[in-house]
Amino acid sequence: MSYQVLARKWRPTTFKDVIGQEHITRSLANAILRKKIGHAYLLSGTRGIGKTSVARIFAKALRCNNVLEDGNACGTCSSCLEFNTGNSLNVHEIDGASNNSVDNIRDLIGEVHFLPTSGKYRIYIIDEVHMLSTAAFNVLLKTLEEPPEHVIFIFATTDPGKLLGTVLSRCQRFDFKMATQADLVNHVKKIASAEGIEFESIDSIEQICREGRGSVRDTLTLLDQVLSFAGDKLVTEEILVTSLGLARTTAVRGLMYALLNGDVKDCSSKYRGLLNENIPLKNIVYALLDQVFELIERGNFNEYSRPELFWIYETLSKDSQWGLTSLSPEKVMEIVLQKLALRKTFFTDKVEKTESAVKKKTWESFLAHLIKKSPATASNLEQGNLIKPIELGEDGLIVYFGFPPSSKVFYEYLQDDEIKANLVNFLKIYFAVSNIKFETRLEQGKFKSKADIRQQKTDEVIDAKKQEILNTPIIKEAEAIFNTKVDKVFIRE
Ligand SMILES: [Zn+2]
Repeated sequence: MSYQVLARKWRPTTFKDVIGQEHITRSLANAILRKKIGHAYLLSGTRGIGKTSVARIFAKALRCNNVLEDGNACGTCSSCLEFNTGNSLNVHEIDGASNNSVDNIRDLIGEVHFLPTSGKYRIYIIDEVHMLSTAAFNVLLKTLEEPPEHVIFIFATTDPGKLLGTVLSRCQRFDFKMATQADLVNHVKKIASAEGIEFESIDSIEQICREGRGSVRDTLTLLDQVLSFAGDKLVTEEILVTSLGLARTTAVRGLMYALLNGDVKDCSSKYRGLLNENIPLKNIVYALLDQVFELIERGNFNEYSRPELFWIYETLSKDSQWGLTSLSPEKVMEIVLQKLALRKTFFTDKVEKTESAVKKKTWESFLAHLIKKSPATASNLEQGNLIKPIELGEDGLIVYFGFPPSSKVFYEYLQDDEIKANLVNFLKIYFAVSNIKFETRLEQGKFKSKADIRQQKTDEVIDAKKQEILNTPIIKEAEAIFNTKVDKVFIRE
């Protein structure tokens, strides 16, 4: 039997086989089970993440005579068997990119008003629907406006922005997500074990998945490419890097540390070493960015500070954009790397300032910031106070906040989920942390709000001022002359 590419062989055939799109497959399976079927569906998202597969799985289940408990087609009824042959009379599929004319669409939906030859529905799947010509769209739109009871359209597109509002408004829309690295790694592991493919190390699997950049199909295509190079089914790092033109992880890591440690000479020599291995420049830069990202993600900021790594990632990412398309990309990128390595001499001042700016954020500075962004929330917080100082760590902030009994109404205001979520969001952005614990409590006894404390301070200042006035010689003298005492002092704001 001839070799079947992995992406095709492992194409999902049931809802649960689809990688990383549970939010969509569950809705569609439920729609089938509850028999709540619309006339038009739009599946959108980047290439190779399962839109067409989902369209087919859904179409098959829609026409199945004995749908299973999980919403999938049975695979054995007459309708399923007809579907499996690939030329069902009742499921029509075209690629909008290559069949985008009016005539193509007229041909496709010419029989739209005839009942299906069997079963309830006649289904039309149009892939890359945004590629249809305007005239073709208009033909389609007429049917879409008043679809016959038995007709269901399933559109797939990588570019929903190009679709007319009139089309969008008639479709139930499902946005596909990029597959996560973890999803891809698990999927490749599963395929590897079923196909008897061995990897020298888990690093190789991860590298293939990273190169797949969120697309299941691209990942499997890369795996095919590696396997065709491997000869047998053992994938070594050597095979991986040669077949995909990738940079060795260890070599890239070496380059990254040379750069981080500010060793310009070492940085250049490691970079040139990679170029000498004929690794495409773009792959070197990609791999380097991935390594820096991983370092940031691991979150160990003892040796290199977070602002420093952010700056490196951002600069490398921006500079490579123009560097790679410049007149002399190799040289430009070498200069960029040297610049990054030399950052301490250029920017010591800047980096330190950024760090101290991060450290200086306090509850007080937050309130001052909040009053500009959301005066209502800020003045609400004025009616309470911190129970104890905030705890601010690398990735989290803990706030215990209390209200005096007299501020019960403000305490209650903050119990509203939406208002609280809003405040937590402000905290996240301001303190640049992802985890916030914000607890509120109604305090007893003498607990004072910020407003109380301020009022108290103002009162004290005014009292002192009054006392000072009473003690001035001229007042004393006046009191002596009239043989009396000053009763009250009023101070205007
Ligand atoms: Zn069936």
